[in-house]
Amino acid sequence: MEQELEHLRSEATAALEAVIDREQLEAFRIKYLGRNGLISGLMRRLGNAPAEDRPRLGQLANTAKKQFEEAFQAKGQQLSGQADTVDRPGPDLSLPGRRTAGGKLHPITRIMEEICSIFASMGFSIAEGPDIELDHYNFAALNIPEHHPARDMHDTFYIGDSVLLRTHTSPMQARIMESRQPPLRVIAPGKVYRCDSDITHTPMFHQVEGFLVDTKVSFADLKGVLTVFTRKVFGQDLPLRFRPSFFPFTEPSAEVDIACVICGGRGCRVCKKTGWLEILGSGMIDPEVFKMVGYDPEQYSGFAFGLGVERIAMLKYGIDDIRLFYENDLRFLSQF
Ligand SMILES: [Zn+2]
Repeated sequence: MEQELEHLRSEATAALEAVIDREQLEAFRIKYLGRNGLISGLMRRLGNAPAEDRPRLGQLANTAKKQFEEAFQAKGQQLSGQADTVDRPGPDLSLPGRRTAGGKLHPITRIMEEICSIFASMGFSIAEGPDIELDHYNFAALNIPEHHPARDMHDTFYIGDSVLLRTHTSPMQARIMESRQPPLRVIAPGKVYRCDSDITHTPMFHQVEGFLVDTKVSFADLKGVLTVFTRKVFGQDLPLRFRPSFFPFTEPSAEVDIACVICGGRGCRVCKKTGWLEILGSGMIDPEVFKMVGYDPEQYSGFAFGLGVERIAMLKYGIDDIRLFYENDLRFLSQF
């Protein structure tokens, strides 16, 4: 009996050692530790042993059983430790990495930069001025004296009696001409403000003012520069139309239309069936403006123009609501 127990012990130890998964462990449990297992069978047969040996053999068998059970528990824990590592795989190095969302330029910034680079390629320098402007530069120096009806068109935000948020970038004309002598070829991009808000107007928007002053500048120069500009910005040879208009600081004045970029001039909803889209205002600088900055109108002539950056961006990208530019919806902004 003792030998049998010893044999069983070494057999079970080897068997437990060979176990590699839960299934085999369960088979081991049934074979050795189960109710009808080998150890239980051995203990049952203790009754057949000589009476004087029984207590000793009983103790040996109990110790052996206890050892098996402990070894069995330990094996179980070892296996569940392994299972944990199998269930929790490390990083899969073959997966594509997570992309960091890169920043992009706002569509208005992009168009603004594009407009500036087109004019820079034609020899214009870039100047920036203050958003908070004096009444003098915003109006008076541009031949718009107090009580002039043109002031009503501007929906001005006043900060004080003679201080306001500039309603256009044209004050830069007066500021630059006042401090420099011709020849001048300058554009002035920037933010402007008007008390107005709907599908095509926002209280803040962007303009680019441009002007050129020299001797013998004619309307043909104005047409040439603006034709090159529209061709470059819209990437196609679009017909231009100059419509007589009125601005207090230019004479003659013209609004410039391009053939509709949506329908090619056949007429659509965007161009209101006219085939034309207004894109900027322009004209020959009024001699009165020259006099105010001390230039001799007999010696110098020049032209000026102002364009709305949002307007150009809307036409170029086919956007029908100006407010989209300022809602900061990433689904919109990430398209550019
Ligand atoms: Zn059209």
